[in-house]
Amino acid sequence: MRVLGIESTAHTFGVGIYDSVQDKILANPKAFYKSPPGQGMIPVVVAEHHRQLGDGVIKQALEQAGQTLGEGRPLSWNSIDAISYAAGPGLGPCLQVGASAAAFLAGLHSKPLIPVHHGHAHIEAARWQMKFSDPLALYVSGGNTQIITGTKTKRPAGGGPSRPSSFFGPPFVVLGETLDIGIGNLFDSFARSLKLEFAHGSVVAKMAAEGKNYHELPYTVKGMNFAFSGLSTSAAKLVGKVEANDLCYSLMETAFSELCEASERALLMTNKDEVVVCGGVAQNPVLLSKMKQMAETHGARCGTCENQYNADNGGMIALLGAREWERKGKAAAIAPEKMWYEQKWRIDQVE
Ligand code: MG
Repeated sequence: MRVLGIESTAHTFGVGIYDSVQDKILANPKAFYKSPPGQGMIPVVVAEHHRQLGDGVIKQALEQAGQTLGEGRPLSWNSIDAISYAAGPGLGPCLQVGASAAAFLAGLHSKPLIPVHHGHAHIEAARWQMKFSDPLALYVSGGNTQIITGTKTKRPAGGGPSRPSSFFGPPFVVLGETLDIGIGNLFDSFARSLKLEFAHGSVVAKMAAEGKNYHELPYTVKGMNFAFSGLSTSAAKLVGKVEANDLCYSLMETAFSELCEASERALLMTNKDEVVVCGGVAQNPVLLSKMKQMAETHGARCGTCENQYNADNGGMIALLGAREWERKGKAAAIAPEKMWYEQKWRIDQVE
């Protein structure tokens, strides 16, 4: 089957097309909202960005998929079997744009409409590319930081050869999570404290790579949970007093060490032999190498997916739409007029 997936939980409006027979994402274009200097995301402003550019991104996805297949023309709606969208968690006004677009297209072209969970999609994208079966997941993004386990189930009898032999999905259990802010928000807000031109966590990561001297900062791990706001406040107070690169380096080392300690506890408790790191912050090579080192110490493999699938994107939403259809059949879909989204939808509420 072919699924077109729409992502619009936060700064990105992304559209992906996944083909389950080729097991390939055929297109994955996106439009990214960049906040003006010194400003965070204002949900209604970001939603307006998505509303204006969304239509173009959908067209681009159909064109790219046509090119990938060598058809010389955009993919037609006839060759799309279902439409999925990220129904949460995220910013309400942004979620509404993607959900409405998906429901409209599903109604217009008479396709099943499949709501999926954004965090579940991040885990599935990493699991898919790593060819893992039942991993422990460290999900790290702007607003979310969680250590998660899922459930592996055997597929029911029947279905075509392209169907997987087993499924990985709910119930999910959140073993550990941030007690205050997400790790991506920690880096983004620190970037604003530094008054950077492009105040984004990725700039903090570049500066951290130049840092050499570790300056001690508050380190908070409680069992498998962790916290970052004390770290954020302390680091912000040291701006101008400690060399900027060293401060970025100390901030990242502290935050990543917290995640590794908590993940190690979860890995030993669950006795898994696969670990995925996923979400926007999983693009950070320092975090990945620390997590790999931790996992390998205990005989587990650890990895992630390509950056294009760790950043918010429609490809992972399309991929998960197909998986949910395979797992649940028609029960995965809703009528377009029953379209819903939930800002605070937790992964342990996914059914
Ligand atoms: Mg994300």
